[in-house]
Order: sequence, then structure tokens, then C-alpha cells
Amino acid sequence: ESGLYVVATPIGNLGDISRRALEVLGGADLVAAEDTRHTGALLRQFDIDSPLVAYHEHSGRGAAERIIRCLAQGGAVALVSDAGTPLISDPGYRLVREVQELGYRVLPVPGACAAVAALSVSGLPTDRFLFEGFLPGKAGTRVNRLGELEQRQETLVFYEAPHRLRDCLADLVAVFGPEREALLAREITKAFETVRRAPLGELQAFVAGDDNQCRGEIVLVVAGRRERGEDIDADTARLLLRLARELP
Ligand code: SAM
Repeated sequence: ESGLYVVATPIGNLGDISRRALEVLGGADLVAAEDTRHTGALLRQFDIDSPLVAYHEHSGRGAAERIIRCLAQGGAVALVSDAGTPLISDPGYRLVREVQELGYRVLPVPGACAAVAALSVSGLPTDRFLFEGFLPGKAGTRVNRLGELEQRQETLVFYEAPHRLRDCLADLVAVFGPEREALLAREITKAFETVRRAPLGELQAFVAGDDNQCRGEIVLVVAGRRERGEDIDADTARLLLRLARELP
């Protein structure tokens, strides 16, 4: 059926492609890809030879116009990024908006997303979370942004480039304190997958002592600030309860 399908692809393990993603990609009149070589290789793995067009930040009006022409002719277009869910720290937002405004259908074909995968094994509260994506690369700007986030009570999710991991952890420890619970999820679904939950200070020491932890793709999940009152430990709580009973 005609429309723009926003199709999630694996974040490492090809087994995570969905049956529906393969159907939609195989049936598409046009596949709009962040990187046509990358997506071309993925499609070949599944014997799909749908035509590809590059769509990314710098692909210009030409790509968007070709996609819209295809939709106008009643075609089906699949939008994919290099990995995971398009639009999540990936291109596509402008295209989706434009296609919607022109009145064509936009439908999701859901699947892998590194942020959600990391959250799902974080052991931290997931009823509310704040997806921050990539922090600023400049140290000063990053510390400022972390300062704004320090008060938030939601679980925080960051994407981080491997060469910035150590600096980023140092800033997190400085701003949030070494005791704040966190999770490092690296190379999710891949051969050298690491999922490690520990207070920020321990994560920092772990990464400092192992160069391999500064390679590959990384998600950091950090616990939100605890509400006041939650901070008292069990012994103090019992003592307070006993005292309260003594009160008239
Ligand atoms: N659209 C993607 C998604 O749905 O997760 C994210 C794209 S963003 C440009 C790439 C970043 O996602 C990486 O720098 C890393 O922070 C995170 N990421 C992607 N795949 C990952 C994986 N297998 N393990 C850990 N992090 C991953």
C-alpha cells in the first residue's frame, strides 16, 4: 500500500530484523537510506533488490522530491537509517513532516532501538525516562547541560561516541556524584556486548582500566535524582518509626 514506511533495522544482530520489515523493504518502490552502500549490503543479505535513494542531512531537495514523486504516483517508500529506528538520533524528521503535510500516510515498522534496548536491561525505573541522545562534544557545554539534567528525577538515556566515553563519565561523576546508579551498554546484540550496571564512580574506574570499553557503540543510562526522603537508609527509617511510636 502507498505511503512512507519508517522501518527499523537491526543495531548489530541481523536476526533482529522483523518479518514485516523484510516484507515492506522487499515490496517498496523506493528505499530511502541514510547510507545507500550500508543499506544496500543489508538488503543483499536478504536478497532484496528494491531501488535505493540517499536521504540524509545533506542530500538536498532532490532526494525529498524523488520520494514525494514516488508517493504521488501511488508508490510505497521505505525510510531506513544505518541502524535501529530512523529519526532517533538519525535523519528523517523533516521528511516525515513534509510527507504528512502533503497528506500522504506515514506508518511505523517498529523494531530495534539502542536506547530502548539499554533501558530494558538497566534495572532502573523506566516508567518515566528522558532521552538526551548525544551530549555536546565540547566539555564546557556538556557540563552545563549535565548541570541542567542533574535535578531531573526521570531515568536519563545518553548516546555517546567511544572516544568521548572517558571524558563524559568524568563529567557525569563530577556533576551527578560517584554514587549515582548507572548502566553502560556497549555493542548491544554484537559479539563484544557489555552490559554493566554500577554506580558512576565504579563505571568510571571500570572504563579507565580497560581500553576495549572505549570502542564500539555505547549507551549510558543514568538514574534520575531520588526524591527527598527516599535517601534515608533502612536503619534510619526503622529508628524514625520507633521514635514516632514513642510520641504522644
Ligand atoms: N537510530 C539508532 C537507534 O535507534 O538506536 C541510533 C542512531 S545514532 C546515530 C548511533 C548511536 O546509537 C551510537 O553512537 C550509540 O550511542 C547508539 N547505538 C547504536 N547501536 C548500538 C549498539 N549496538 N550498542 C550500543 N549502542 C548503540
